[in-house]
Amino acid sequence: MEDLSTLNSFGLHVNAKSVYRIRSLADLRSAPSDHALILGRGSDILLTDDYDGNVLVNCITDTRFSEDGDFNVVRCGGGRELDSLIGELVSRGISGLENLSAIPGTVGAAPVQNVGAYGVEIGSAIASVDYFDLDRREFGTIKGEDCGFGYRTSWFKEHPERRLFITEVEFRLKKGFHPVLSYKGLVDTALDTPYKIRERVIKLRREKLPDPSVVGSAGSFFKNPVVGEDQAALLQRSYPDIPLYPLGGGRVKLAAGWLIDRAGCRGITHGNAGTWDKQALVIVNRGNAKPHEIVALAKYVSIEVFRRFGIKLEPEVRIYGRRGEITWDQI
Ligand SMILES: Cc1cc2nc3c(=O)[nH]c(=O)nc-3n(C[C@H](O)[C@H](O)[C@H](O)COP(=O)(O)OP(=O)(O)OC[C@H]3O[C@@H](n4cnc5c(N)ncnc54)[C@H](O)[C@@H]3O)c2cc1C
Repeated sequence: MEDLSTLNSFGLHVNAKSVYRIRSLADLRSAPSDHALILGRGSDILLTDDYDGNVLVNCITDTRFSEDGDFNVVRCGGGRELDSLIGELVSRGISGLENLSAIPGTVGAAPVQNVGAYGVEIGSAIASVDYFDLDRREFGTIKGEDCGFGYRTSWFKEHPERRLFITEVEFRLKKGFHPVLSYKGLVDTALDTPYKIRERVIKLRREKLPDPSVVGSAGSFFKNPVVGEDQAALLQRSYPDIPLYPLGGGRVKLAAGWLIDRAGCRGITHGNAGTWDKQALVIVNRGNAKPHEIVALAKYVSIEVFRRFGIKLEPEVRIYGRRGEITWDQI
């Protein structure tokens, strides 16, 4: 058995049969992949138990740059740290992904939940995704427009039964500087280069999120719920200061962190698990937490939010038990 505590950002002490680090396509072909769990850096998962199988860790990091008319084209191995890629893009003066600076994890995992922050989602820059199908034992490519990108979701997340190991992602980034500065903290005319935006985003994130190298967490534990306009209007009548983000089409996004805070759950603890006092949406390991403490705290938070607002929170993190992925309602 191998310990996975450095392969999940909660830092939970759980084991798997074996861990295989995939550095090339040849490694991937030869790795024992029956019932294998695919991991990048484990920064979006909760492991509730020992995993009864092998883990394949993506360590393919080759990156190639080229140009195609008005676009910079970047092909990047799925095992590279997303933030290291963004750092290199910014230093080359390539704009488009700087708002996603400092999101932990790999390039290969980024399309899975369509990572997003500060008004940018990675799916908008993805031209194609290369994969190896672990069951059919064949390589393939999916075009960006066929990836089903949505808020914190994609075709890959919706179809876990297909067990596709993402080997490489191709980005197409329009040449020139295209700042997205609509979010609080970025509305500032001094932010006139990708580098300055990256620095500001890193600063803002440090102020409100735990440093993953010090405090274990998986970032936002829950997704921001989306409700209909009528329900949003009712909530606003009872809570005039509730933040509402209209999405169009009669749908409104709510801030899960605000709901958790107002349900009285910011900064609370259960055993060695707690909610982060600067951002209630983040559940943290306060030191040697056990998986059941994280689960119990998350369940408590979701029940309190439901009792207060009638809103059902859905986890953003992927949850894995002994035999594979499990749904929120199964635990
Ligand atoms: C402090 C902190 C802050 C965060 N902030 C944000 C944020 O602002 N925005 C945001 O969107 N997310 C955020 N996250 C969540 C996380 O960073 C992202 O989801 C990231 O993409 C996870 O990358 P990973 O390599 O760690 O994936 P993992 O956690 O290893 O895997 C996540 C899922 O993707 C699958 N997967 C991983 N790699 C591959 C692959 N190569 N092929 C196929 N499937 C794969 C796994 O099986 C798993 O289901 C944050 C997390 C932390 C800890």
